[in-house]
Amino acid sequence: MSQILLKEDTIVALATPNGVGAIGVIRLSGPDAIVIANSVFKGKDLTTQASHTIHFGNIVDDDVVLDEVLASIFVAPRSYTRENVVEISCHGSSYIIESIIKLFIKRGARGAKPGEFTLRAFVNGQLDLSQAEAVADLIAANSKASQQVAMQQLRGGYSSELKQLREQLVTFASLIELELDFSEEDVEFANRGQLKQLVVDISKMISKLIQSFELGNAIKLGVNTVIAGRPNAGKSTLLNALLNEERAIVSHIAGTTRDTIEEVLNINGINFRLIDTAGLREATDTIEAIGVQKTLEKISQSALLLYVFDAQTLTAEEVQQDIAQLLHPGLPVLAIANKTDLLPNSSLAADFILPNAVKLIAVSAKQKQHITELKQAIYNHAVNGQLAGDETLVTNIRHLEALQKTEEALTRVLHGIDNPIASDFLALDIKQALHYLGEITGIVTTDDLLDNIFSKFCIGK
Ligand code: GDP
Repeated sequence: MSQILLKEDTIVALATPNGVGAIGVIRLSGPDAIVIANSVFKGKDLTTQASHTIHFGNIVDDDVVLDEVLASIFVAPRSYTRENVVEISCHGSSYIIESIIKLFIKRGARGAKPGEFTLRAFVNGQLDLSQAEAVADLIAANSKASQQVAMQQLRGGYSSELKQLREQLVTFASLIELELDFSEEDVEFANRGQLKQLVVDISKMISKLIQSFELGNAIKLGVNTVIAGRPNAGKSTLLNALLNEERAIVSHIAGTTRDTIEEVLNINGINFRLIDTAGLREATDTIEAIGVQKTLEKISQSALLLYVFDAQTLTAEEVQQDIAQLLHPGLPVLAIANKTDLLPNSSLAADFILPNAVKLIAVSAKQKQHITELKQAIYNHAVNGQLAGDETLVTNIRHLEALQKTEEALTRVLHGIDNPIASDFLALDIKQALHYLGEITGIVTTDDLLDNIFSKFCIGK
């Protein structure tokens, strides 16, 4: 941490994407940002300008004009990093951008490392850790839902929930600590019943956050969805019907082999990565065996299975056999009865019974019948009623791990309350829970704990 805090230098980097564009924005941050920018800027004296102002001028290298630019000035602490920041909007040629950055480096700036501007924002207290991480997620967001989850985290929704949890825990810890100070008098400041209730409540919230990871992660990365079924069931036709007009810009990511094709389908803001498999069939030779193997392998890595069957030719028994072969513990399955347009009255036989866990939906891929219902069913399966409003979703594996460790520590606390142990052991477990929660937002726990004790109680009096 001490190394991170050494931030006397001024860093520079291109803030817009590499390559040719209409404009490129070069960002300078650090104590000398304005002075360095001014040293190569021909126009107004940038060092005397007010914060949040924009100035037109030339960037010059020994009297040679490199470009006409706009310089935006942000005076510390009113900037993203809370340092002096200058943003130079220049023409978006790689040559110009490179020349200007080199010039800034010649004048004393240093090339920024990945994420260093946001790191400075964190070190300077502009953002906490989870918010800083949300910035990265926001930049990477490629769907409405992932953008909203990242935005919510950036606004601090995530942090404020955790902060509240920590505050409650800190109070708990302070009371126990206080008992340690008065141990000879055998007082009990912390009512064990209330404390237990508090820990139970906090554990509930934490386990909700942990559970939200599956959906949070799905929103961030997309839901891996495998389409499987016998040859000619209509898988390709169904894939096309689903992707109709919804084909994502990044469609056609070729699979690792020619056996699988991956397409991205966006339903209500969530990306589903649809993987069409080689087909489920009896392995009559090695090549086909590889195909089946591949299918099963893909299924084991997926979060949702769409099993497609020809409703006209397959019996309920055959369908059940197929599903039994494909079923993977914990994997949700949607059984899709296709070609219902060929059935009398377009309806399935009444004796069509499937395992409880498997939801059956009848469509006609070719006639594009019930495709909207199918999409809704796919969405519901993935979201499972969790995406109601603005609740907090955990999308970050580091947070998940910290929450899991918090949960473990809280379980020990509960155990300690139920099987009375010495207050100092209880205090230790609580401190550990505080530590892991603090890891998420980057708070240093011990100082915090002490502060809390002294601000609430006058022990020395
Ligand atoms: P795959 O091998 O599972 O990918 O199956 P295809 O998508 O290639 O479809 C096999 C055949 O079934 C094609 O001739 C399709 O036109 C036909 N087919 C697919 N879906 C339907 C449907 O809903 N109704 C009818 N009548 N035919 C369909």
